[in-house]
Amino acid sequence: MPHRKHVATRTCSICGKKADKRELVRLVRTDDGIMIDPSGKMNGRGTYVCPGMECQEASDMNDVFRKISRALRVDLTDADRLSIRQLVSS
Ligand SMILES: [Zn+2]
Repeated sequence: MPHRKHVATRTCSICGKKADKRELVRLVRTDDGIMIDPSGKMNGRGTYVCPGMECQEASDMNDVFRKISRALRVDLTDADRLSIRQLVSS
């Protein structure tokens, strides 16, 4: 059996798609609120979403907030909601 190179996969917390973690955007819960973690190495509970949250319905941000809130096990503040909205492209 050839040795298969390990590729870390993560799951988008919005649509459930599995992808190479480099293809997803990491959100991390910090003392200062929810932040985007471009390095993927920030400390704290993190979750992954598709880039630009292209998988979400623009009309259904409440659903997105609920899923991220659950994934990060935190109640979202208004500032957190704003940060998450900024992730949404177009
Ligand atoms: Zn997704």
